[in-house]
Amino acid sequence: MIKIDGLTKIFGEGAEAFTALDDVSLTIQSNEFFTLLGPSGCGKTTLLRMIAGFLDPTRGQLMLDGKDLLRHPPHQRPVNTVFQSYALFPHMTVSENIAFGLQMLKRPKAEIAATVSEMLELVQMTAMADRKTAQISGGQQQRVALARALAPRPKVLLLDEPLSALDFKLRKEMQLELKRLQHETGITFVFVTHDQEEALTMSDRIAVMNAGTIRQIGGPRDIYDHPAERFVADFIGDTNFLKAQMVSSTESGALVRLASGEEILAKAPEGGAPSAGQAVTLAVRPEHARLCERTEALLIGTLDNVVYFGTDTHYHVTMDGGGTFILRRQNQPGQTQTLAINDTVGVCFAPDTAQILKD
Ligand code: ATP
Repeated sequence: MIKIDGLTKIFGEGAEAFTALDDVSLTIQSNEFFTLLGPSGCGKTTLLRMIAGFLDPTRGQLMLDGKDLLRHPPHQRPVNTVFQSYALFPHMTVSENIAFGLQMLKRPKAEIAATVSEMLELVQMTAMADRKTAQISGGQQQRVALARALAPRPKVLLLDEPLSALDFKLRKEMQLELKRLQHETGITFVFVTHDQEEALTMSDRIAVMNAGTIRQIGGPRDIYDHPAERFVADFIGDTNFLKAQMVSSTESGALVRLASGEEILAKAPEGGAPSAGQAVTLAVRPEHARLCERTEALLIGTLDNVVYFGTDTHYHVTMDGGGTFILRRQNQPGQTQTLAINDTVGVCFAPDTAQILKD
């Protein structure tokens, strides 16, 4: 539905020129919850602002339902934005804030009243319809900002880190709420965040960005279980990186040799495994590994630290070949700790959970 092709934004000129977005191409489907995820300064907001029309690209194409969006100014695009700051009018009531955009569009009075009441119900703010927005909480303001942006029924709703001002609990609640709103309205959501957990819990698909480029696009599970490269594996969740060497590539996987000398069949990256003899990096998630007997271990090391997190415990192991490996085990009632710091321990993991990364 949204087709972005070769979109580039260069700020400044000559020696001052800075490429904030570098030849970005992607397609966002209708009715999709699509997230742009990446570290600060990677170009997420720049891309969002170009879809909204607040910023012109240096080059590239931007189509919505087959029409060239770049030919239309912001107010003519069927797109609305929810900002981090909400930008509500404090002297107006909740209802007046929601009605504002519809009045600007000169919609009939009866239609405005009906839409406002529908939106109030959608975001569960009917009881506060007549309160001034300066007199409601941050979470409630966020709901009003959403209702106001959804009221004109845009085809696309752009959300720029809309939950970042909320406290942890409210943020969790609003994550589910946003997902529900997207589902109920059928509007395409393009959501910007640098919070990987937020992206994983809400999105249909995620585009992971770094330094003005898209590094990987996929569903949350896809991105988490099959990171294409080191940056993605590192940015999303915790990951152990192991140095290994390609031995051979077979139909069932890629045979690699670990520093310990053990050979395992690991998951090849998309586009095929590197050739035999090549040095590669393996990514292993902490929850996919366990401490085990030395006789069956893939790696041997020394237990450095045990950190209790309530739901789970993290074990830090310094490997015999160098480097640290972190394992995560879910805590069970009545579980006792039998290991001591400086114990020699074995590390095991199912080979099919080890992902070979493109460097
Ligand atoms: P954050 O999560 O911190 O909001 P972001 O991924 O949204 O970051 P952008 O706001 O898109 O990042 O900015 C991308 C890069 O472009 C940054 O390095 C920023 O400093 C630069 N940039 C943005 N606007 C301008 C501008 N008007 N002139 C020059 N450089 C700019």
